[in-house]
Amino acid sequence: MTVRTRIAPSPTGDPHVGTAYIALFNLCFARQHGGQFILRIEDTDRVRSTAESEQMILDSLHWLGLEWDEGPDVGGPHGPYRQSERGDIYAEYARQLIESGHAFKCYRTGEELDELRESRKAAGMHLALKPADLALPAEEQARRETEGWSHVVRMQVPATGTCVVQDMLRGTIEVDWAQVDAQILLKSDGMPTYHLANVVDDHLMGITHVLRGEEWINSAPKHQLLYEYFGWEMPALCHMPLLRNPDKSKLSKRKNPTSINYYRRMGYLPQAVTNYLGRMGWSMPDEREKFSLNEMMAHFDIQRVSLGGPVFDLEKLTWLNGLHIREDLDDEGFLKALMEWAFNEQYVKEILPQVRPRVETFSEVAPLAGHFFSGVPQINEASFDAVKLGREDLIKLLQFLVWRFEVVPAWHKEALLAEVKELSAHFELKMKDLLAPVFIAITGSSASTSVMDAMAILGSDMTRARLRHAIEVLGGVSKKQAKRFEKEYREL
Ligand code: GLU
Repeated sequence: MTVRTRIAPSPTGDPHVGTAYIALFNLCFARQHGGQFILRIEDTDRVRSTAESEQMILDSLHWLGLEWDEGPDVGGPHGPYRQSERGDIYAEYARQLIESGHAFKCYRTGEELDELRESRKAAGMHLALKPADLALPAEEQARRETEGWSHVVRMQVPATGTCVVQDMLRGTIEVDWAQVDAQILLKSDGMPTYHLANVVDDHLMGITHVLRGEEWINSAPKHQLLYEYFGWEMPALCHMPLLRNPDKSKLSKRKNPTSINYYRRMGYLPQAVTNYLGRMGWSMPDEREKFSLNEMMAHFDIQRVSLGGPVFDLEKLTWLNGLHIREDLDDEGFLKALMEWAFNEQYVKEILPQVRPRVETFSEVAPLAGHFFSGVPQINEASFDAVKLGREDLIKLLQFLVWRFEVVPAWHKEALLAEVKELSAHFELKMKDLLAPVFIAITGSSASTSVMDAMAILGSDMTRARLRHAIEVLGGVSKKQAKRFEKEYREL
């Protein structure tokens, strides 16, 4: 058997370090067994998926050196590798399941589903809707069908009993069937859900081992059942521990930069990031901290993954990056890496329109555009002295902006402008006054290039990291304040 693993990211937003982490382990597992590693884009969520996000994921993984044998950009014998291009395949498999009685068309309305959940809740039952809850009297089902009501396709699931799933790291996992709902397989628009598409594709693409994040454990019973329904062999499952913030909470962009774009912009070396991700829950047999991707592949053993939540610690990563820079780069290597980082034509061209109209000599470029080549700016409380806002309002404004920016679907200047405008209306501030502190937080000065353009160019995580840093130098948000802010923010 040829081992085949895959990474199956959904292209919704910035490329996440968690994706790179899971990709790395899948790649190492495949290579260690002389197998193949596949990249599949899971873009069945047509509202949230974007081509731009897909491109960023491909770019980031290439940057990290995590190369795949088959994928949407390189092709392969099992394509297409983008789920949005495989719609007919899923529809056909859903049809098969209906025919074999393993799935059913569900014509329940949203209101009915709410009522069903309410009554389960009132009866003290688990909220998972079961086929028996959803079934309609035969005539009603037939009427809705003839009248062409909107419907979804759901899978049959047992009402009672225990589902037993094997996990390569966790051994036997038991889940009560009562907690498992009659999962939607095809949505009312005919698009598959993750569950159907994932199972069908893993099978058709010959995936033998699924290494994925722990957050998917709850899906395993449904997937196992689907494999049984289809009469297919299920790949071995391995649920990797989730990356954590230093406070042990799940790694999230609310607290830490999670975008690979951020680490790239900050000037980390790809080999150091890969090395650090390799340290997440895994260690070399001799416990050495610094190693290359090739060394990791050579010594890889999935059983050395420990399940205690690995902490993604920026300080540790920075330390490791320093080792890579000092020990592995000679002058020439350093120069090359530095140029690739930000002193390259593409990046300089991007910031050129910001700089060119504002200088009379080249010697003004670095002071003016330094913020495009740095991390968080050197600022302190006094940097905000000229801002005409009370301390609490100032912090609140920055915090609201951070929250708004966390959910901007596409990081474009226009989208950011829309957010800023909305906040200026809320705070009853002129745009200029609202942007004054933002300007300082982002550029570190009160005279520089356009702040809106700077944020658009610097990217989401870098922008938010700078805004959060400004909040910190202004004294941070107390627990009490956070509560007040959140309440006001929710009412926005
Ligand atoms: N599309 C899923 C994700 O974004 C894939 C999960 C899996 O690997 O099964 O993580």
